[in-house]
Amino acid sequence: MTISIAQNIARLTERIERAEGNAGRQRGSVKLMLAAKHQPVENLLAASAEGVTLFGHNIVQQLEQSVQGLQEAAISSINTVIGPVQSNKLRAAMTWADRIDTVDSLKTAQRIARRQQARIDDGEASGPYPILIQVNSSGSTTQSGCSPDELVDLAGQISELDLVRIDGLMTIGAHTSDTAKIHRSFALTRELSLQMRGLPGLEDAAELSMGMTGDLDIAIAEGATTVRVGTAVFGERPRS
Ligand SMILES: *Cc1c(COP(=O)(O)O)cnc(C)c1O
Repeated sequence: MTISIAQNIARLTERIERAEGNAGRQRGSVKLMLAAKHQPVENLLAASAEGVTLFGHNIVQQLEQSVQGLQEAAISSINTVIGPVQSNKLRAAMTWADRIDTVDSLKTAQRIARRQQARIDDGEASGPYPILIQVNSSGSTTQSGCSPDELVDLAGQISELDLVRIDGLMTIGAHTSDTAKIHRSFALTRELSLQMRGLPGLEDAAELSMGMTGDLDIAIAEGATTVRVGTAVFGERPRS
C-alpha cells in the first residue's frame, strides 16, 4: 500500500482551514499534531518535509526512537506524549518529550515535579516541565482523564507545584456517531478551560488539544487550538 503523506497533509490542511472558516476562526489558528503511534521514522520525516513537525506519541519507546531518528536527520521537531504514562516510564518520557499531555492526577504531577528537580540538579533542564491536563469529557469508563467535576480543583493543586507548568487541556471526544454528544464533550472541555484560566497563574493555559481524524471539524468548531491526527495522514495504522 502506498500512501502519499504529502497529498494527505495538503488535503487535511484544506479541511482544517474550512473548519476554521466555518467557525469564524482565523485561518492558521489551529495547530496540527500528528499522532505518530506505530509509524516508522521515515513517515515522520516525510511529514516534516511538508512543514509538519509537531508529533504526539502514545508509546514511550516509540517516542524515543522517533526523536532520535528526527535528530539524526537534523530535523527540529516538537514531541509530546498523548498516551498514558506508567510511572516507571515517566523518566524516559520526560527525557524525550517536550510536554506530557495526559496528566490526570496530582500524584503524576508531583512525580513530574520531583523528576524535573532531579533534571535541573543534573543540569539537564531549567524551569518547570510543561503539561496538559487530560479531561475525560465523554464520561466513558474506559477513557483516561480526570473527571470534569475535579478539573478545576486539580488544576489549582498542580499550579502550586513550582516545577510543573500547565499549558492547557487535552481530551478525547465521545466515541460515538452521535455528533451532538461529540459536540457536548468538546464544549464541556472548552468551558472547563475557561474556568481553569480564572485561577491565579493559569490565565495563559489556553492550549486545547482535541479532535482526531473522525471529529476534528467538530473540535475546531468548539475551539480546539490543536488537533491530533493519525489516520487522515498516515492511512490505517500498521500493526505493531
Ligand atoms: C491515535 C490517536 C489520535 C489520532 O487518531 P486518528 O483517528 O488516527 O486520527 C489522536 N489522539 C490520541 C490520544 C491517539 O491515541
